[in-house]
Amino acid sequence: MTFDGSIALVTGGAGGIGRAIARAFARDGATVVLAGRDATALADAVKEIGPCADHVVADVTDTSSAARMVETVAARHGGLHVAVNNAGILGATGPLADVDEAAWDDVLAVNLTGVFLSMKHEIAYMRGQGGGTIVNIASNIGAHGRRPGLAAYAASKAAVSALTRAAALDHIADGVRINAVSPGASDTPMSLLPGETRAQRAERMRTAAPSGRVADTSEVAETVLWLASDASGHVVGHDLVVDGGATA
Ligand code: NAP
Repeated sequence: MTFDGSIALVTGGAGGIGRAIARAFARDGATVVLAGRDATALADAVKEIGPCADHVVADVTDTSSAARMVETVAARHGGLHVAVNNAGILGATGPLADVDEAAWDDVLAVNLTGVFLSMKHEIAYMRGQGGGTIVNIASNIGAHGRRPGLAAYAASKAAVSALTRAAALDHIADGVRINAVSPGASDTPMSLLPGETRAQRAERMRTAAPSGRVADTSEVAETVLWLASDASGHVVGHDLVVDGGATA
């Protein structure tokens, strides 16, 4: 796979999975723009990835910010060929009856509305440009798996899977090909239980997961790159689970 000459945008690009995705696009020839709210974290990630990386500060829960994010990428780099909507939060945990409304709203705002707004502006640009590919990051806790205590997160991620299918059907005729990746527990702080160390998580995963381990973030990234590339050209509206068999 090569992304030579392609411009790729990764939301949440300074985080664990987003940074691995951005790193992989840069390795394969793309100019990659990392988006997020924290300018310092983004600058640090850009420094690590190298000269073909750039960043834009954006909050995907805000439509003008998401629109500016896309406009900035296009204005600075002359196009937008690939977008990965990866920004997400775990948010409120605990039984549903104890989830307060503000915490529910926060999770839905980032994980669902953030993907909607990002896609809305990315698709509008890509359609005018003649096409592009989009990969949304959902989760195996959503449309695929069952885990107590994560109602808001699970609902938001199941909705990302549905939104991906809907958007894919609406825009494949415009040349915009849209899919999702649903990772299982991956090697970032998000998969640590409260107070848990990485070593304790490794011990827990030895029996909790069929593969016996969490995903390396590069394993999620390689799947995203395949879905973003011409190698998956006839794959449309799919939600590819990368969870070592947890929901097989
Ligand atoms: P992470 O390290 O916390 O990264 C999340 C990124 O999202 C951060 O860079 C954060 O940057 C950004 N973000 C949050 N709210 C934002 C907003 N309103 N606007 C723009 N950016 C925002 O998490 P991760 O583990 O890499 O997870 C990445 C994605 O994979 C998430 O969607 C997550 O749900 C999904 N996922 C993760 C796992 C796992 O085990 N790690 C499993 C399944 C799915 P700022 O705070 O600077 O904005």
